[in-house]
Amino acid sequence: MNYDVIIIGAGAAGLMCAVEAGKRGRSVLLLDHAEKAAKKILISGGGRCNFTNLYASADDFLSQNPHFCKSALARFTQYDTLEMFESYGIAWHEREHGQLFCDESAKQVVDMLLEKCVENHVTIKLQTSIDKIVKHTGFDVHSDQGVFTCQSLVVATGGLSIPKMGATGLGYQIARQFGLNIIETEAGLVPFRLTGKTHESLKALAGIALPVVASCNNQSFGEAMLFTHRGISGPAMLQISSYWQAGQSICINLLPDLDVRAWLDEQKVGRGKQHVRTVLSEILPKRLVLHWCAQYIPDKPLQSLSDADLDVIASELHAWQLKPAATEGYRTAEVTLGGVDTACLSSKTMQARDVQGLYFIGEVVDVTGHLGGFNFQWAWASGYVAGVAIGSS
Ligand SMILES: Cc1cc2nc3c(=O)[nH]c(=O)nc-3n(C[C@H](O)[C@H](O)[C@H](O)COP(=O)(O)OP(=O)(O)OC[C@H]3O[C@@H](n4cnc5c(N)ncnc54)[C@H](O)[C@@H]3O)c2cc1C
Repeated sequence: MNYDVIIIGAGAAGLMCAVEAGKRGRSVLLLDHAEKAAKKILISGGGRCNFTNLYASADDFLSQNPHFCKSALARFTQYDTLEMFESYGIAWHEREHGQLFCDESAKQVVDMLLEKCVENHVTIKLQTSIDKIVKHTGFDVHSDQGVFTCQSLVVATGGLSIPKMGATGLGYQIARQFGLNIIETEAGLVPFRLTGKTHESLKALAGIALPVVASCNNQSFGEAMLFTHRGISGPAMLQISSYWQAGQSICINLLPDLDVRAWLDEQKVGRGKQHVRTVLSEILPKRLVLHWCAQYIPDKPLQSLSDADLDVIASELHAWQLKPAATEGYRTAEVTLGGVDTACLSSKTMQARDVQGLYFIGEVVDVTGHLGGFNFQWAWASGYVAGVAIGSS
């Protein structure tokens, strides 16, 4: 019942930390209340796990302190992740924007981490509920499986997203118990819900996907957008959701690669008798054009539209304003924004500045990546630096 290190949370960050501390000769106990380790890895990236990103840098993360993640990301880089995967024989491929996925299955990633835990004598106890933590020179972890004692306690309980998969606020509770500040949490990388008239008019577009640039609060993402039965989703919307505040509109450029005004002039000269919706249907999904024209422009031949009319069409297509009612919240969010305040942690070791032996790693910390493999890179990097620090202390 006595270990050098206890890690609460057998997800990406907890497993990584366990392996690194175990490699350095520490006795490690990894506790989790779920019946299976690393469930989020298993479902990630559509079952193929987008495990890192070739271009990962601090710019891809949100945090009250945007510099905090730099140290860990520099000490365990995306290339270190690649080497770890390759040395275990996991085949991978690159998709757009430098996203790296497993060729076969996310299960290979979990198998690799569990095998490394066995190699490094890490004890894993699943289906263990934590009741309370008591601090003395070390820590007592009271659970329904008894009381476990350790010198170093690592909290790797992740965020609040997808409670059905075992997400809880235990990590924040432990942080508060020891006087650490919590940056308010919110659902990130999450679809939007539309309500009222907007929903009524757009729900007929469910299933349409198209490349757009979505912008809000000085951030822009050029990716695909998807209309759903409840609202809007797709990578562009998930990305911008991490920056959106309730009550704000999202600016959507429906034709980011075309100068619509110049293109309309050309069409007017060559095909003036055609209606706007006919010509637009050649460059945008037809159902979207029908809806959009009905809302925003007169259904007239191009030749009867003035320059001012064409200006309006072009500017509406390049900057369509859509106001979501809300996000879908933690139920479907990929990540949780906010978390344990980085001001309370060492960026080199992830140890609490004022509580000797207490560490926070992974998503429970106020470091949240964009979509594209960045969140796992943070889990690997923060788990690695904490594991090394504990192993060398
Ligand atoms: C659907 C989905 C797809 C995703 N796809 C990707 C992707 O492709 N690429 C990417 O980079 N990121 C992806 N993410 C985000 C990524 O999964 C997380 O950022 C990452 O898993 C965080 O790792 P973590 O170890 O900090 O937390 P988690 O992986 O969430 O692990 C936390 C662990 O703590 C345990 N735990 C929680 N509360 C308690 C408690 N009270 N007692 C005991 N144990 C507890 C949980 O059971 C869990 O095992 C995805 C997320 C979701 C939801």
